[in-house]
Amino acid sequence: MGSSECHVAVLAFPFATHAAPLLSLVEQLSAAFPSARFSFFNNHDSNSGLFRGRNPAAGKVKAYDVWDGTVAGEALVTHEEFIMAMPGNYVKAIAEAEAETGTKFGCFLTDAFLWFGGDLAAERGGVPWIALWTAGACSISAHLYTDFVRSLAAATPTANGLDQKLKVIPGMSELSIGEMPGEILAKDLQAPFPGMIYNMALKLPGANAVVLNSFQNLEPTVTDDLRSKLQKVFNIGPMILRQAAATPKPPIISDDHNCLPWLDSLPPASPPAVYLSFGSGLTPPPDEIVALAEALEAKRAPFLWSLKPHGVKHLPEGFLERTKEFGKIVPWAPQVQVLSHPGVGAFVTHCGWNSTLEAISFGVCLICRPFYGDQQINSRFVESVWEIGVKVEGGKFTKDETLKAGLECCSG
Ligand code: UDP
Repeated sequence: MGSSECHVAVLAFPFATHAAPLLSLVEQLSAAFPSARFSFFNNHDSNSGLFRGRNPAAGKVKAYDVWDGTVAGEALVTHEEFIMAMPGNYVKAIAEAEAETGTKFGCFLTDAFLWFGGDLAAERGGVPWIALWTAGACSISAHLYTDFVRSLAAATPTANGLDQKLKVIPGMSELSIGEMPGEILAKDLQAPFPGMIYNMALKLPGANAVVLNSFQNLEPTVTDDLRSKLQKVFNIGPMILRQAAATPKPPIISDDHNCLPWLDSLPPASPPAVYLSFGSGLTPPPDEIVALAEALEAKRAPFLWSLKPHGVKHLPEGFLERTKEFGKIVPWAPQVQVLSHPGVGAFVTHCGWNSTLEAISFGVCLICRPFYGDQQINSRFVESVWEIGVKVEGGKFTKDETLKAGLECCSG
């Protein structure tokens, strides 16, 4: 490697929609800095999905697998096994890559969850550590206030106490303590997942920069407050729009289940279509799948539902036959293109950050049913701060509440 080349270690978190946005950022950086090389550390499963059939940035990005935390030959069962193997699994793979190239890494670009990025950078003479928070300013800010939120919760340990609004946190006055991510309120902050997130909150102020998949005007107060706590904050979102504009070639759209032709075929006079999806890993519980199906059947608006086969089996008997004229169910949809389709008017979602930002990017109203992590925060911002959607009343899908939420969403 020539001395002018910068070799960047990229550390991905392999679960949910974390590694894909990081790889997308790396591809954009590679296009902007052609002399840089990137080593992408991630687990085997995630790497094989991400790198299948592509050669990111013409070979300037090389994938390295890190150990999953499992016994050889056994499948990974929980995130926790992986987290318990950290940071040793990354440290080992990084050392091997450095031995292979004969140079030390000159920069660490990590998923923000990987709190040890700063330690690795310090061990190499204080090279930069840049952390990507794949979500919004509102959720990372919440984590930086973990100790404060926990002390408030401890001071008001009743159920009503959890309804207390976080008025003193800049930009968070609509949020209640109970809407904070479970990790913040976890009983045991040393447990693998909460421990990783808490360490992140402690270490991020040491990062040279924190990069957010958001934009200033969306969360101005929260972002300004973040800037007072972190060394540098860069808003680079919505990444999907940047990606489409910046990459030399537009991303390849795979529409294996013909969602886009189906949307194109809807009669011009039909009501706006409803799109339903709960991200890369979630499937609502069986009773809520039934409630959603009943609401869709009663409403008779066109719908496109991204639902995995293990969810399809909980649909009411005869539902697929009765709705085949106006509904389509697929295991995976090209969501960005679906949301940008003019025929789509409402999005029933878990409010994962990518989904939320994609809906914002294309002006689609959200019907939110948050489950965990930052989803409660995102959906509160959707309903009460940005006023671009509604949360399903009662916190879970019932036929009536779903129909009511649909009406509110479409009339807004
Ligand atoms: N997604 C998709 N098709 C689907 C379901 C999801 O393309 O059928 C994409 C969606 O566009 C988004 C991501 O998967 O970019 C889900 O990310 P999000 O942060 O919303 O949820 P997570 O997967 O992290 O729970």
